[in-house]
Amino acid sequence: MRNSQMTPGIVGGRLTPETYGENFQDLHAPLDHHEAAVAADRCYFCHDAPCITACPTEIDIPLFIRQIATGTPEAAARTIFDQNILGGMCARVCPTEQLCEQACVREAAEGKPVLIGQLQRYATDTMLDQPHPYTRAPDTGKRVAVVGAGPAGLSCAHRLAMLGHGVTIYEARQKPGGLNEFGIASYKSTNDFAQAEVEWLLQIGGITIEYGRTLGGELTLGELSSDFDAVFLGFGLGGVRALQIDGGDKDGVRDAVDFIADLRQADDLSALPVGRNVVVIGGGMTAVDAAVQSKLLGAENVTMVYRRGKEAMSASQYEQDLAASKGVRILYNAAPAAIIGNGAVREIEFAYTDSSGKPMGETFRLPADQVLRAIGQVMNTRPDTLEMDGARLTVSHTMRTSQPGVWAGGDCVAAGDDLTVTAVAQGRDAAMDMHNTLTGKGA
Ligand SMILES: Cc1cc2nc3c(=O)[nH]c(=O)nc-3n(C[C@H](O)[C@H](O)[C@H](O)COP(=O)(O)OP(=O)(O)OC[C@H]3O[C@@H](n4cnc5c(N)ncnc54)[C@H](O)[C@@H]3O)c2cc1C
Ligand code: SF4
Repeated sequence: MRNSQMTPGIVGGRLTPETYGENFQDLHAPLDHHEAAVAADRCYFCHDAPCITACPTEIDIPLFIRQIATGTPEAAARTIFDQNILGGMCARVCPTEQLCEQACVREAAEGKPVLIGQLQRYATDTMLDQPHPYTRAPDTGKRVAVVGAGPAGLSCAHRLAMLGHGVTIYEARQKPGGLNEFGIASYKSTNDFAQAEVEWLLQIGGITIEYGRTLGGELTLGELSSDFDAVFLGFGLGGVRALQIDGGDKDGVRDAVDFIADLRQADDLSALPVGRNVVVIGGGMTAVDAAVQSKLLGAENVTMVYRRGKEAMSASQYEQDLAASKGVRILYNAAPAAIIGNGAVREIEFAYTDSSGKPMGETFRLPADQVLRAIGQVMNTRPDTLEMDGARLTVSHTMRTSQPGVWAGGDCVAAGDDLTVTAVAQGRDAAMDMHNTLTGKGA
């Protein structure tokens, strides 16, 4: 007999093959030509447009929307890629409701912004199956090492290659893309888009990726610094914060990022086991993604539990609404106290908390056969010669670390907000400063 949503334990095949297909299709269907023209027509092409300032990569949004409106989406794509070479992925994953679309004057006036994210996707999609639009400057003879093939590393590498430098990326995994490939929710990046985008980006030439090469493993920062003219660190946050409660090691308890990575790499979603009663601990984007995808995989009950109030949650209102619309229950002001079960998790006990997240004494239990921890990521590569700001690398406004010749960007640095678009912006800005330094134009 086939499994169903009610089958106890952590099992696969809870849904019909058609339902998996429907559940994991694109969150937003791409705009067709007519829809794009109508959406572009709503833009006022503002002078000093607030949407540009709200974009971490400062894309000239009114310009690219005007290019769409005048029927030249390739030119629009070029406007986007000039600032953000991963503009295709950002169009899919950016929390636009907190960035450009929140700043859009039509949002302020009517509560309905111009669909900037979807228009960006419309434009960039026209270019990705065409020859790469950029060419390299003459070879400078300079060689740069980039650690990590995530958004920060790829953006940095592309800009450096374009400026004529030779780049070697050292990537710990066997595939490029970082969290674009292993973290972003499946319904935001469908049809293997992350790999297609990297292949397109690498067409610039001058970039070599060495897989299975780990800084802090067989590679040291000292060696990279002496073998290359400059180094960029874009290794993200590879570790996960521990859940320090009784029973945290029981079967059925795992990190949400690993669960999501398995999902992103699965060829057959029906083979992916998920619990009947899933409890996700955390209040960020990772928690929402893990909860929504558990539900889409056929879990009967999915509850997200956050230790503080709704207003303190880092997942946006849009993300919270998305979770609720998929049937995820969100509980606020409750902190995990113990995981109960004989070998495998059976229940999880929570303590009610006050507004600061402190337990108040009273407790309750939820049935759970799977518990997903999403309580934050931590840096697990830590070159000990570099200055830290808290748990992340200290960088200047031009992304220089405390060590001359070493730059950094993306999630591993203290400046930023753990978004794909910010990692892209920082990788690009570091590349520009490296270029100025390597060619004697900067300090
Ligand atoms: C589950 C999840 C969902 C998310 N969803 C969104 C979203 O919808 N929208 C959004 O804007 N942001 C989202 N984010 C955040 C976003 O993915 C990150 O901010 C972004 O990927 C950071 O890019 P990065 O290049 O700094 O790091 P990463 O993407 O983490 O890439 C780092 C790369 O370095 C490699 N690496 C790590 N250590 C080493 C080492 N020692 N040596 C060599 N290589 C190494 C890694 O394998 C990886 O390829 C999400 C994050 C998570 C965890
Ligand atoms: S703020 Fe809105 S209306 Fe103004 S330029 Fe930007 S997208 Fe267009």
